[in-house]
Amino acid sequence: MKVEPGRHSASALGGRVELEADVVVIGSGAGGSACAAALADAGLSVAVIEEGRHWKPADFRQDTAFSLRNLYQDRGARTTRGNAIIPLPGGRGVGGSTLINSAIAFKTPAPVLKQWREDFGCERATDERFAGYFDRIWRTIGVTVNPVAVQRNNNLVFKEGAEKLGLNGQWLARSAPGCAGCGICQYGCPSGGKFSVDRTFLAEAIAKGTVGVYADCRVTGVQSEGDKITAVTGHILDPETFAPIGEVVAKGKVFVVAGGPIQSPLFLLKNGLASSDHCGQHLVIHPTCGLLARNPQVIAPWSGVTQGYYVDCWDKGFLLQTFTVTPDQYFLMLQGPVGAATMEWMADLSHVSSAGALVHDQDSVGFVRQTPIGADIYYHFGDGDKTRLIDGMRLCAKVMLAAGATSVMAGHMGATPLARAEDVDSALPYELPAQQIFLYASHPMGTCRMGGEASSSVVDPTGKVWGWANLRVADASVFPTSLGVNPQVTTMAMGLMVGEAIAAEGI
Ligand SMILES: Cc1cc2nc3c(=O)[nH]c(=O)nc-3n(C[C@H](O)[C@H](O)[C@H](O)COP(=O)(O)OP(=O)(O)OC[C@H]3O[C@@H](n4cnc5c(N)ncnc54)[C@H](O)[C@@H]3O)c2cc1C
Ligand code: SF4
Repeated sequence: MKVEPGRHSASALGGRVELEADVVVIGSGAGGSACAAALADAGLSVAVIEEGRHWKPADFRQDTAFSLRNLYQDRGARTTRGNAIIPLPGGRGVGGSTLINSAIAFKTPAPVLKQWREDFGCERATDERFAGYFDRIWRTIGVTVNPVAVQRNNNLVFKEGAEKLGLNGQWLARSAPGCAGCGICQYGCPSGGKFSVDRTFLAEAIAKGTVGVYADCRVTGVQSEGDKITAVTGHILDPETFAPIGEVVAKGKVFVVAGGPIQSPLFLLKNGLASSDHCGQHLVIHPTCGLLARNPQVIAPWSGVTQGYYVDCWDKGFLLQTFTVTPDQYFLMLQGPVGAATMEWMADLSHVSSAGALVHDQDSVGFVRQTPIGADIYYHFGDGDKTRLIDGMRLCAKVMLAAGATSVMAGHMGATPLARAEDVDSALPYELPAQQIFLYASHPMGTCRMGGEASSSVVDPTGKVWGWANLRVADASVFPTSLGVNPQVTTMAMGLMVGEAIAAEGI
């Protein structure tokens, strides 16, 4: 059947769903939704196919188990292996990772765009073109700085420390104009104050009357003739168990893969659509490490904007950003001290503040590949990146102490509480082994890199998969390098760029 405009749950439609549209988009996250919006602007009919469910703000709960089970890839258990085990969460549902992200909005740094143009041949990544995308993205997802009244103490205390040290600190711009400061962005936004792409780009696209979004469908296969894809195939999933309960077949003239930087390369590789020379390679993730501090004043880290303030050290290869998590997650972060020491910190949780360092990864090596027992995600944390992380952790501890913290706990095994700035550097030596640092990353990128040459990239500068006439990729996997800033805006810009290129070439 021709795509029906609107939102659909395939699990409610029956055993076999057959769709036909000008363009079929696989995945409804930051990239897929922005791409669908650009295609809808051009009057094209679009079927967006998403393995997760449709969600409304009222569905979200402050409940870790519920969120991991329903809103996260692999039920929240996705990790990398290598010289450290790193949790690598990603979103699952209409809206993708924007459902569970902190809404931080950064424009792509100009030096990164320059590097992409000059070193990788991405000739369309110009400052002028991207400035137009940023304007549109700012309007569509409502980027703004939230008022001080909702930032609350975790952000305010870090700001105070940064100002005392004379650092370049600023409020974070966020795509959450109605943020109520409940601090649980990673569980979905229950107030609707966050403008995730399901409620913005995708809603805009649907309103044009040519776009249908089909949830509960996982695309697994392709049908092709010559150098053209003719259809994608897959399963309708039970929204609770994720077990296959039916089939989906979507025919189209153009196909856009936007399953995110872990799923997209695996889909291309599994179907023989790209070579493993580059597809699945070049994984970068922005490794981060969080620090906790005990303060004399009440912080109440369960209240306020989840991530509201940052210190800009991009030129040194890292950013410091505040963050808060729920009490059970704070407990998990306290892996350094055991027994009574942990319970003491937990008993004092109302006085605990938290912030961390995010690294612009440059010498780490990562890849993703399929094995018979599932995805194998490998990441070797490079020495240069570790040095940049340690620099960031040291500065973060000093900011916390400058703000008056009585004790800072850095995120590594065997950490002892730090009470004086002069003890910080020796307590965080560059020789700290990677496997002893509590790393975390939620920004996979780079596994279907864009470039001007087929021999060194997976997609061309318009997102077209080399060797295929009508297959594109439009998500964070196409970045040729890491960014050093949070990636949702750059992903949306790539989605718009790929959608515009399809419309300009004609169907
Ligand atoms: C916890 C967390 C916090 C973050 N915070 C921020 C932040 O504050 N600011 C920021 O800039 N970035 C943040 N990010 C990162 C940002 O959200 C992502 O970089 C961005 O959403 C990536 O977009 P994408 O289109 O590549 O993939 P995603 O947004 O992850 O979307 C991919 C979608 O494709 C679907 N899919 C995958 N395979 C298939 C298939 N075969 N069939 C059908 N559907 C499929 C998935 O279910 C998913 O919904 C955060 C990420 C996480 C996980
Ligand atoms: S902190 Fe703001 S954006 Fe995040 S979930 Fe709460 S209300 Fe939504």
